[in-house]
Amino acid sequence: MKSEVDSYTASLDCVHCGLCLEACPTYGVLGLETDSPRGRIYLMRALAEDRIDDVDAIRPHLEQCLDCRACETACPSGVRYGHILETVRADLEEARPRRDLASRVRRLLLRHLVAHQGRLRLAFRLGRVAEALGLRWLAFRIGLLPRKMDALVPRIPPAAERRSLAGRYPAKGEKRGTVGLFTGCVMEQVFGRINVVTRDLLVANGFEVVVPASQTCCGALSLHDGQREDARRTARHNLQAFADCDVVLNNSAGCGAALREVGELLGTDEAHAFGARCRDVTEFLAEVGLAAEPAPFPHKVAYDAPCHLCHAQKVRTAPLEVLRQVPGIELVPHPTSEDCCGSAGIYNLVHRQLAAEIGDRKAAALRASGAQVVVSGNPGCMMQIRAHLDPGDGIEVRHPVELLLPSQHDRT
Ligand code: SF4
Ligand code: SF4
Repeated sequence: MKSEVDSYTASLDCVHCGLCLEACPTYGVLGLETDSPRGRIYLMRALAEDRIDDVDAIRPHLEQCLDCRACETACPSGVRYGHILETVRADLEEARPRRDLASRVRRLLLRHLVAHQGRLRLAFRLGRVAEALGLRWLAFRIGLLPRKMDALVPRIPPAAERRSLAGRYPAKGEKRGTVGLFTGCVMEQVFGRINVVTRDLLVANGFEVVVPASQTCCGALSLHDGQREDARRTARHNLQAFADCDVVLNNSAGCGAALREVGELLGTDEAHAFGARCRDVTEFLAEVGLAAEPAPFPHKVAYDAPCHLCHAQKVRTAPLEVLRQVPGIELVPHPTSEDCCGSAGIYNLVHRQLAAEIGDRKAAALRASGAQVVVSGNPGCMMQIRAHLDPGDGIEVRHPVELLLPSQHDRT
């Protein structure tokens, strides 16, 4: 089997030094070379060189990878692990003789539901009705859905928190510029409140905010699942939707990484230029400076860095820079801040056991930090961390934008 040539060539950069092993969460839990970055690169290279007879034997090792890209940060040779993995996963999907039911359902949902905002909104509306009728409770009660997933599957918020933000919102005070806001697919439906806060924060800081109605999913979930063509389709759509925006901001690290890397996915100048215009909202605010002082927040706060912000987008200091400007905040050290929490898109639903062990390690580190509040700029990480902390820990989980809002701000 031949993968895209550049991904095979990229795998040759690995010199097998093993410096990435300690950074790898699956190697940390399983202790197996085949579940380490070095081992997986070796397997992917062997696959590209047609030295693997039984492709199905190596599939689980590649599927168990979180695509957290901590190995990229640790690697002194600059191996582009994420790129290699995603292209090889796409090859494996193509070569699959028969997809199992779970894989077919996943593909169907990603292609025909998640990538269409209108259908997704309708599905969440129906889901909300089902929850109100007690069907969610029943599904977990009778074992249709495993009970352990209850904490990981978010409750659907009321309609007011799920409405589309499409429109143009004028800056407050002296206008400093205009920015586009990417509001996501599931993000809009489950964390719409965070989108509203992000918009209000930008408006309060002097920016006109444009939210194009025609934007769609970033394609990250399709990429992780090996559906590169589907990801390309949504990427082209977003290029058009944000064609008039000089800056495109997002508040979800997983989406941000996918948006930033569309150049590599589509291979056009236009796509590379689009990727270069995309920024995480905290990164942007650190660059331009806060014009509106955040409301006081006198709490001990631990910052947990989403993998796709620190390892994929290489945004490390910006969130801390802006958080330090919150009056009264005490940022407490969190030594495992850049370790994966086990969320990784839908990984924690598909690989529950492994994700739970990784999530428990994260929760233990957060308890030890003495933090009262954990902030993380990725909705999946927020849900995973919440699910693994006990209510008795008394630790709140928030998005950084929530701590940056000024005391007095008008809802737009
Ligand atoms: S992406 Fe994460 S889980 Fe996968 S090999 Fe690299 S460090 Fe390990
Ligand atoms: S991926 Fe990088 S750090 Fe890991 S074994 Fe290869 S060269 Fe070494």
